[in-house]
Amino acid sequence: MALHYRTCPFCEATCGLEVETEGTEVVSVRGDERDVLSHGFICPKAYGLKQLHEDPDRLTTPLIRRDGELREATWDEAFEEIDRRLTPLLAEHGRNAVAVYIGNPNAHNLSSLAYGPVWLRALGSQNIYSASTVDQMPKQVSSGLMFGHLLSVPVPDVDRTDHLLILGANPLVSNGSLLTAPDMRGRLRAIRERGGKVVVVDPRRTRTAEEADEHHYIRPGADALLLAAMACTLVEENLVDPGRLAEHVDGLDQVTQVVRDFSPELVAEACGIEAGEIRRMARELAAAERAAVYARIGTCTQEFGTLASWLVDVLNVLTGNLDREGGAMFPLAAAGQRNASGTPGAGKGVRIGRWQSRVRGLPETFGELPVATLAEEIETPGEGQVRALVTVAGNPVVSTPNSERLETAIEGLDFMLAVDIYVNETTRHADVVLPGPEPLEKSHYDLALYQLAVHNVANYSPPVFEPSGPPEWETFLRLAGVLAGQGPDADLDALDDLVISTVVQREVGDAGSRVAGREPAELIEALEPRRGPERVLDFMLRVGPYGDGFGAEPDGLTLALLEAHPHGIDLGPHRERVPEVLRTASGKIELAPEALIADVERLQGALARERNGGLVLIGRRQLRSNNSWMHNLPALVKGKDRCTLHIHPDDARRLGLEDGGRALISSVAGQIEVPVELTDGIMPGVVSIPHGWGHDAPGVKMRVANDHAGVNTNVLADESQVDPLSGNAVLNGIPVEVRAAVTEAIPA
Ligand code: SF4
Repeated sequence: MALHYRTCPFCEATCGLEVETEGTEVVSVRGDERDVLSHGFICPKAYGLKQLHEDPDRLTTPLIRRDGELREATWDEAFEEIDRRLTPLLAEHGRNAVAVYIGNPNAHNLSSLAYGPVWLRALGSQNIYSASTVDQMPKQVSSGLMFGHLLSVPVPDVDRTDHLLILGANPLVSNGSLLTAPDMRGRLRAIRERGGKVVVVDPRRTRTAEEADEHHYIRPGADALLLAAMACTLVEENLVDPGRLAEHVDGLDQVTQVVRDFSPELVAEACGIEAGEIRRMARELAAAERAAVYARIGTCTQEFGTLASWLVDVLNVLTGNLDREGGAMFPLAAAGQRNASGTPGAGKGVRIGRWQSRVRGLPETFGELPVATLAEEIETPGEGQVRALVTVAGNPVVSTPNSERLETAIEGLDFMLAVDIYVNETTRHADVVLPGPEPLEKSHYDLALYQLAVHNVANYSPPVFEPSGPPEWETFLRLAGVLAGQGPDADLDALDDLVISTVVQREVGDAGSRVAGREPAELIEALEPRRGPERVLDFMLRVGPYGDGFGAEPDGLTLALLEAHPHGIDLGPHRERVPEVLRTASGKIELAPEALIADVERLQGALARERNGGLVLIGRRQLRSNNSWMHNLPALVKGKDRCTLHIHPDDARRLGLEDGGRALISSVAGQIEVPVELTDGIMPGVVSIPHGWGHDAPGVKMRVANDHAGVNTNVLADESQVDPLSGNAVLNGIPVEVRAAVTEAIPA
């Protein structure tokens, strides 16, 4: 019997787990009471770790399509096939002929984060897509434009705030998103216990709303109007007070001018919230000793996603709550945070739109194009047409808009490679599938998520079991070798040396770095005998803000120190970081970026829009589900059908729908049929279906998921509807028609 302490890889909360094993068996999974961030908290998904380890449907051997069937093959055969198919295609049609889709689990994967950029650079395609443009891209764009870095996302200082305003998020169920915060129920209760207030704005009465002091229903897509009206109230009632930030802000006058056009009286009807209530919410936010505004997926995946994301931080600035204890603060992660060198004003800001999608001309954001354009890029002939696709831990056929069109397009590709642990709705179309290791077969460090954590921590987990195949980082390097023209048997050691050398060279060349000007060879030698992601991570930790600086701070952080602390190391609460965190060209907070101000006119258009009284569709997050990929784990899908249509009883009565009956939902993009669940916990005029379901396609090899198939709601999402600044798909507020499904009478 052995005990292992690990970070849970299943969601952004990064809870500490105590995993008990006997040989190759997982005996139990419990919360790690001594974990420095989660203190023993876990949710039901954690148990999925054992079931994923035991899952007979999980791939452990590469597959190659032969005679129309995916058949088991060796790793060498798989890479020979990839080389045979991809290399001539690249030579004939160019780099953009190969598109890539990166799925959400990569954000939790050390190998992906450290080695993904390596093979993507070797590919050199502009057709890079990811789950980000059906999720959080608007927040990254607004943060990038305001603060100068795509990961400078302020997070609410939940543990010290007195007033938390939450829009379009259900952290009681998600445990935070763009906010790494295990046990949000406990943290929200603590706000109320210390006399504070939690206010939720959402078209659904979510579990978070039920725990809050106040819940306001809002019409889907109206968050930007509400936030602008709250800002307008602050301006009109002389409540604007950025406090310490005043000297670090550019564009304050412009913003106060712009929001004056959105008085609460003007936006009330569009929001479905009375003007007096909007004014009261704004006054209370301004009056609170320490307050934060936090918004997530419901405010991002809609037509004004970037404007809403921007206005969240406009409110945080106008009330003096940005970068202030108990407000919205910038975490200081131990690794991967190159904007922490302490040189204010040294940034260049961010540039978006460096290239456009070929067919629709939508702008690139942070190196990727909107996934809502992928189908047309595959279908439309001409130079740069996508002819091959590589997916990594992604299921875009289920997760992205107008899924049916994308699936048809994928069927027409010349070649598809998938790196995945399942044959799912997308990977069933692949010509080659490379299995990744399961979470217990690889090390874990949350390079990305600690940059969004409610409290600064660092925690490293070594693998529990030996991988049955090659480590994932070697798979990525081998792929890089093929894409760089070195064939299927590239020298992986040489490539890995190149990786660390590139990382070190970049750091020593940065004047603000702790190792600026040092000899790269000496630093690399100090990392021996580590290789792979551990070598990269050790380097990042050592040059990071808490690191040993390769001798400068002998007690500073190293990977060895983390290995000696299996429950993690507490690096302290958030601290003030403005102006050091800013990387805009001006060295200031850009409160009125040109692109955002230019988009305000579109928001005004929404005010003039006629409302036809029709229904609109939104999604919903569920405790035992995280997107599409955990539905093959029995513990997480058991019980009653969760893929249902939530509809208000008044709407149901009008439409002749009954609880437990079935409804046909149609939009301009498609039609689906789902079971009906009546609830007064949803706003009249709004219906909700969770996304990530629809596992009954032929060829999918996920037996448990197949038995709990549900329906793919993204069939209804119109891929032509995107937030123009971020290219993020509009997945909330989709106009739909709902009617009772006609079931044929069974003859007696
Ligand atoms: S909240 Fe997230 S990280 Fe924590 S146990 Fe659940 S799935 Fe894992």
